Amino acid sequence: MPDCRYCEQSFESESNYRSHLYHDHDREELGRIDERRVEQSLDSLTINNTSALEVSLKRDFTRDTSIQAIDEYTHLLWKTLEWEDFETLRDLVWTYYEPLATHVDETVKAEGWPVLSKLLDTSDPRIETPPPGLCHLIANVCGRYVIRRRVTDGVESIPAEALDYLQVFADRELPIEDRQPLALSEPSLGYLEWEASYAYGWGIGHSDHDVAARIHEVAHSSEPEWSQSTLEQAFYANQHAAAGLVERILQDPDIDSRLFFLRAVPFEESEVTIYTRYWDWHDELPSEFELAPDVITRLQTCVIEADLVIDAPEDIPLDDTSDP
Ligand SMILES: [Zn+2]
Repeated sequence: MPDCRYCEQSFESESNYRSHLYHDHDREELGRIDERRVEQSLDSLTINNTSALEVSLKRDFTRDTSIQAIDEYTHLLWKTLEWEDFETLRDLVWTYYEPLATHVDETVKAEGWPVLSKLLDTSDPRIETPPPGLCHLIANVCGRYVIRRRVTDGVESIPAEALDYLQVFADRELPIEDRQPLALSEPSLGYLEWEASYAYGWGIGHSDHDVAARIHEVAHSSEPEWSQSTLEQAFYANQHAAAGLVERILQDPDIDSRLFFLRAVPFEESEVTIYTRYWDWHDELPSEFELAPDVITRLQTCVIEADLVIDAPEDIPLDDTSDP
């Protein structure tokens, strides 16, 4: 019966003891022999200890179970990072993305903004240091919330804090991308965060958070993809406001890839596209979409005035500036 020499607890088996060393002590506390002991069974230590998380996920959708599940998941992520066990990190991310997003989203649907607000605070890269593998999940749920509020109660019903959270990912530094062993196979964690935060565009027109200004600002960066994708979402939310933003971008000589943003305009779309992973939004939201004739005319005029016609992609309808 081994006793822990760091906290003097007793354990019935060697494997329970190893699990205790792994989960309850920091790696740096351990002596060399104990460190090796854990390393030898690293494969089983995280996997065998997802049971608490599994139990939380099977319980009813409540504030307490959701927050507990997120805490348990966060603990496991930190442990894999502490032990540089990047394969397990990747497995955790992909195993728990959907069930956790579903669980937390159901809770937010039942209990509203206060639950989400708390989760945003505890996973905000500007306030806390959340582990890689957490933020895309919270951004996913936040994105669903933003879109639902927009569609059901209008733009001003979206809490500005939700938009503040989603815009962080446009330029978040992702140490995970810089360290090869940490990089997940495609899509990367950074991509998952971006994708989950595209719902930001649905906040266009909000009086306390200037979504258009932020998308315009990021359009100047060397990685304008985030701006392009959020701009597309903005069209589904309010195509006239989004067209106004495209005009400002096309008239801005400091943006290198102005035509790239024309690609965000859903010229040919007849349906809304939402990138929020694992969300069956078709069951909740109207999906029809059509670009209004006056918006098309406005954009055509703008492309001509900005002297960009010759370089514009051929599949963008620019040949007729009169009303159809
Ligand atoms: Zn101990």
